[in-house]
Amino acid sequence: MTGLSAIELEDVVKEYHSHGEVVQAVKGVTLDVAEGEFFSLLGPSGCGKTTTMRMVAGFEAPTKGLVRLRGQDVTNVPPNRRDVNMVFQSYALFPHMSVWDNVAFGLKQRRTPQEEVRRRVGEMLEIVDLTGREKRMPRELSGGQQQRVALARALVNRPRALLLDEPLGALDLKLRQAMQIELKRIQREVGITFVYVTHDQNEALTMSDRIAVMNDGLVEQLAGPRELYERPATVFVAGFIGTSNLLAGAATGGELRLGGGGRVLVPGHDGDVTVTVRPEKITIGTDEPAQGLSAVRGTVAEVVYLGTYNSYTVSLADGAGATERSEGADQTQHHSDGRSAARGGTTITVFQQNAVDA
Ligand code: ATP
Repeated sequence: MTGLSAIELEDVVKEYHSHGEVVQAVKGVTLDVAEGEFFSLLGPSGCGKTTTMRMVAGFEAPTKGLVRLRGQDVTNVPPNRRDVNMVFQSYALFPHMSVWDNVAFGLKQRRTPQEEVRRRVGEMLEIVDLTGREKRMPRELSGGQQQRVALARALVNRPRALLLDEPLGALDLKLRQAMQIELKRIQREVGITFVYVTHDQNEALTMSDRIAVMNDGLVEQLAGPRELYERPATVFVAGFIGTSNLLAGAATGGELRLGGGGRVLVPGHDGDVTVTVRPEKITIGTDEPAQGLSAVRGTVAEVVYLGTYNSYTVSLADGAGATERSEGADQTQHHSDGRSAARGGTTITVFQQNAVDA
């Protein structure tokens, strides 16, 4: 460890001028990526992920702010003089070249000695598990194999950092999931810093050491997968990562009171609050809930069988007549963004694990 971050963005802004209008694609992003880290930029379409990535690569110049690579200011350094490489969703292999020649291309261009080319391409094909397919042409490969060739081609140059923009987007779900595990393994094996752009939260959670969740040109939260899930910092993050139930209203005496005698304990948070509760942290029961537990009253409106668990949609009671109740043992609190309190018509989602058959 050198103590230097692989990549740093300091208050980076990117504005585009389009049809007489100014579009702020990135509105002030500050983050740092550690050496050897698998780092993801996660967010919905149009939130500024690709623009942020392109500023790291040098394809776009920031309107404001600084980009540093290993402590060096590269804000005005062109892409070919930054020690980073980028892999795109459309992996654009040379169609008339074999797997081997595709991977060797960059090294040959740099007049790398033949023996070294042979060794490095051989090693890299082994890492991406394509040994034995050296002579194949791209059209003779599956989508996943083509993607691994593209990865080998980018990694063989040994960049300090590899930037990947939705590289698995074109693959079907099964293959994408298999490639996620592969990518993580490859990244560990080569020890290169990866920055990964995706709008798929599962993908980001599966692979990343840390994730910057972006929304509307800003980073909402930067944390590891577990922390993002367990302690979302904003309502947006709670909703974007996994399924979340949001209950909002004015809390008094450390409690948010809901219709039908329901209550959510929010110790130390009086005033407007928004509480998020994960569906699997709620249990459904018909007994009176124990003292000191959060509980809401409602009616099960729908049950969907999902294999390992069932998903219950519970309509919360706004008065009498409710027959079911759900208890939430765990919740996180957030200050409200002005949403109205839970009232009739509010539903929550509850996941209950299906028991193992006796
Ligand atoms: P996606 O997941 O759909 O690729 P993204 O999060 O990568 O989205 P960006 O491509 O970074 O988002 O775009 C961010 C915003 O900037 C969008 O509103 C987009 O329309 C706008 N934008 C991007 N490039 C340009 C451009 N060259 N000119 C004008 N506006 C642009």
